[in-house]
Amino acid sequence: MERIRAVLIDIDGVLTVSWKALPGTVEAMERLRSAGLRLALVTNNTSRTRAVIAARLSGLGFPVTAGDVLTAPAATAAYLREHFPGARCLLLNSGDVREDLPGVTLVDGHGTDAEVEVDVIVLGGAGPEFGYEALNRVFRHLQRGARLVSMHRNLYWRTEGGLDLDTGAFLEGLEKASRTEAEVTGKPAPAFFASALAHLGADASETLMVGDDVESDVLAAQRSGITGVLVRTGKYLPETHRAASGTPDHVLDSFADLPGLLASG
Ligand SMILES: [Mg+2]
Repeated sequence: MERIRAVLIDIDGVLTVSWKALPGTVEAMERLRSAGLRLALVTNNTSRTRAVIAARLSGLGFPVTAGDVLTAPAATAAYLREHFPGARCLLLNSGDVREDLPGVTLVDGHGTDAEVEVDVIVLGGAGPEFGYEALNRVFRHLQRGARLVSMHRNLYWRTEGGLDLDTGAFLEGLEKASRTEAEVTGKPAPAFFASALAHLGADASETLMVGDDVESDVLAAQRSGITGVLVRTGKYLPETHRAASGTPDHVLDSFADLPGLLASG
């Protein structure tokens, strides 16, 4: 662990659940900061802007500013600007993140097929917006050749009330029905981890990623050469851990235990 200089931290389920700090996590982040580690928060959160997320975390006591927060929408905007410059994008998302989509042309996609031109369908996080009418409109545009970009393909996330269904569940159906495959821009996309490393100026070999999603956070980071740490909080389920496609480098009960792991040499 002596070689670790940078830490990528998932937010939901690691630092917080339903925007309440998990026990000991504020103190743990303070210890990482005072140890001089470079930190970035890497989140597939699609409902809030980087500034709002940073303000929330800072309000809970975490030493965080907007520049520390890397979100799936911000990564998606970079991806769209590079691969689909000028494209007319139809965004289906729960929450307003337009501030983090600079340079992306959004159209509303309503009206008859002949009236509306959509080049790229962009899926964000699921919510009440993912109703039949909206999903069917997306399906229609896909049939007419629109490309499909998704900020992530998470199946569910943890709230105070239990697990809630997320975009991945709808995405699988859309892909099957339209015989297309989405391009994913948030975790677990290698490009997302690469941009986080570039942001910190860190090599994968000196970086650790901590998350509660064994596949999208931990094993995906490990495939990029980053040391993976799975925490048993948030969406963690023993059966999902057992059935995972690989083995995390480390497993901790909580993010609160991370400073201890890093100090263990
Ligand atoms: Mg998480």
